[in-house]
This record gives sequence, C-alpha cells and structure tokens, in this order.
Amino acid sequence: MAAHAHQPDCIFCKIVRDEIPSSRILETDHAVAFLDINPVNKGHVLVVPRHHHADLTELSQSVAAHLGGLLPKLCRAIQAATGADGFNVIVNNGEAAGQTIGHGHWHIIPRFHQDPVNWPWPHSEYVGDELGQMRFRIERELKPGAGDE
Ligand code: 5GP
Ligand code: ZN
Repeated sequence: MAAHAHQPDCIFCKIVRDEIPSSRILETDHAVAFLDINPVNKGHVLVVPRHHHADLTELSQSVAAHLGGLLPKLCRAIQAATGADGFNVIVNNGEAAGQTIGHGHWHIIPRFHQDPVNWPWPHSEYVGDELGQMRFRIERELKPGAGDE
C-alpha cells in the first residue's frame, strides 16, 4: 500500500494534524517528534513522518533519510535533558515486532544504568551454512530493481 497524506482513523495522523494534543519537541516539513504518552523511561520520544504510511517498508528513501538525519540532534537533546546514560533507537515494524500503531515511527528511549527495562533481548546462533544462505537470500533481494522505491 502506498503512503497517503493522512488516514482519518490514525492516531498519529491526528497528532501530526494537531487534531489531538501531543507534547511536541520538534517539527519539520516532513516529520514531527513528540513525547510518548506511556514512556518506557521518562523522555521517551516518538519521531513520525507526517505522511501516513503503515511501516518502515513503505517509506521513501528521502523521507527515511530525513528522519534518520534528525536522530543525532534529538538524541543529544534527550540525553542532555534527561541525564540518560544512553538510549535505544528502535522501530517496531509489524505486529509480530510489537508495532501497535499502524503509522510507522521511531522510538528514542533514554536509558539509565540499572534501569528496569528488559533489554537486551536474547540472541540465537546460525548452524552449518545457515549464515551464508541468509546472506545470499538477502543480497539477492537487494539486487538492482528488487525492492527499489
Ligand atoms: P509501537 O508499539 O507501535 O511501536 O509504539 C506505539 C507507541 O505510541 C507506544 O509507545 C505508546 O505509548 C505510544 N502512544 C500510543 N498512543 C499515543 C498517544 O495518543 N499519544 C502519544 N504521545 N503516544 C501514544
Ligand atoms: Zn497515520
């Protein structure tokens, strides 16, 4: 599905359009950053493209680059304002990955030594030629023409 200007039922479209209140900390022509209403840690910020899109896979390279370009400045400000020892930048993409709002967004989560956040997640390992096979499969999908915007 292509990105749309906005979706009337989308809560983040409503926030972007100022139809419901939010605590904005930064806005540009293409993105809005605001405080998450139920933060993992206080100072947790969401960065959303203004245009409705379901998830990261629907974003154009230029909008994604714009949002990515805002992250260092936002992270520095959040870290300075909260006194965080570090932060996680994360995108939950798809229901299986924990995405609950169908308007893609970046989380910036300030982190503190000894905070109670359940992180890092567990790691698995490749067996036999699984690693090489996985590399082959992904590289094949990246060949020119496959998945270009
Ligand atoms: P997801 O689980 O989709 O990656 O993240 C959705 C985030 O949006 C959650 O962290 C949730 O707390 C936040 N959220 C949900 N509704 C609202 C809202 O109305 N306002 C704000 N500021 N954040 C919201
Ligand atoms: Zn939306």
